[in-house]
Amino acid sequence: MPNPSILILPGDGIGPEVMTEVRKIIGWFGEKRDISFDVSEDLVGGAAYDKHGVPLADETMAKAQEADAVLLGAVGGPKYDDLDFSVKPERGLLRLRKEMDLYSNLRPAQCFDALADFSSLKKDIVAGLDIMIVRELTSGVYFGEPRGIFEEGNERVGINTQRYTESEIERAARSAFELAMRRGKKVCSMEKANVMESGILWREVVTRVAADYPEVELSHMYADNGAMQLVRAPKQFDVILTDNLFGDILSDCAAMLTGSLGMLPSASLGAPMENGRPKALYEPVHGSAPDITGQGKANPIACVLSFAMALRYSFDLGAEADRLEAAVEKVLADGVRTADLLASEGVSPVSTSEMGDAIVAALNASL
Ligand code: NAD
Repeated sequence: MPNPSILILPGDGIGPEVMTEVRKIIGWFGEKRDISFDVSEDLVGGAAYDKHGVPLADETMAKAQEADAVLLGAVGGPKYDDLDFSVKPERGLLRLRKEMDLYSNLRPAQCFDALADFSSLKKDIVAGLDIMIVRELTSGVYFGEPRGIFEEGNERVGINTQRYTESEIERAARSAFELAMRRGKKVCSMEKANVMESGILWREVVTRVAADYPEVELSHMYADNGAMQLVRAPKQFDVILTDNLFGDILSDCAAMLTGSLGMLPSASLGAPMENGRPKALYEPVHGSAPDITGQGKANPIACVLSFAMALRYSFDLGAEADRLEAAVEKVLADGVRTADLLASEGVSPVSTSEMGDAIVAALNASL
């Protein structure tokens, strides 16, 4: 059997810096755990624009379609701010998501004990938090037609359409239930069925899908109440399933429960390929951080944890994902901090590569 393949797209800004640390870790798994990947690398975003005049070349898109998993750093930066909309770095990322049909966006909000003080909420509310938001990513109000700004009488009207088919709801729901089966076996579905027909359909379809997962406890919540509950008592949740718009907002809200942007991974999954693995793109939530690019200050943990998600969701290596997450947890518990994680004066931050080395050392210690 050939090794599973990973396409690495470091992108712009701190993307290549954090990806260098992930490559160390991929190398570690090959060397110490006999888990090897065929890794190839290509350009996306501004870096692709500089070389090809487009933010994602067709050949790169084709490679992404073939890969067992795509790992992306970040795209964008001030150098590209004035480019035409059609070739902006973000278009490369959007093309990947669209053409791979990545309909299920997984955003974990996990609070490492050592960082509980970082949250804007009280420590006891967030310590030990481990929730997962599943956001439908390819439909809903961001894509529905009609859309646009139209003339109506003597003024203009801005229109967007919230639209969901049953099959779109069903596939997102299945992904949430499958996930819950590997976790705490609870799904809370959030919509606005009190005021939106699309919410009524959403609730109906999710309830129907739930019948196929009798072990999973399903609850429903209006999305506005969900936002309140997320900051009031977030530990009540395991998996939250929601649509594109609410998911955009709720996942950012949940992310901030845990502190720094440099800590947040994500996965976007699509339909299973012939080999049974889902189409998958893993990336940190943060952007290209131009303000710290090239200074060795970037926290590589979000990207490292994105690779841990790849181990778990693309390669069925849950125990190895646990090992990597535990290594990150140990490093943090030992007080190793990049600059973004420094709460107190007088503690020296480590560099991006020192953080990567510390994680590798913790992996070694786990053997
Ligand atoms: P950003 O996430 O790049 O940075 C926001 C702040 O967080 C900055 O102060 C940055 O230094 C800090 N930060 C982010 N990641 C960090 C890390 N790993 N370690 C330490 N500090 C970190 O968001 P922004 O400044 O709004 O955007 C910068 C560029 O990134 C823009 O061009 C934007 O379009 C792009 N962007 C890309 C993505 C993506 O690739 N998915 C996401 C968001 C923004």
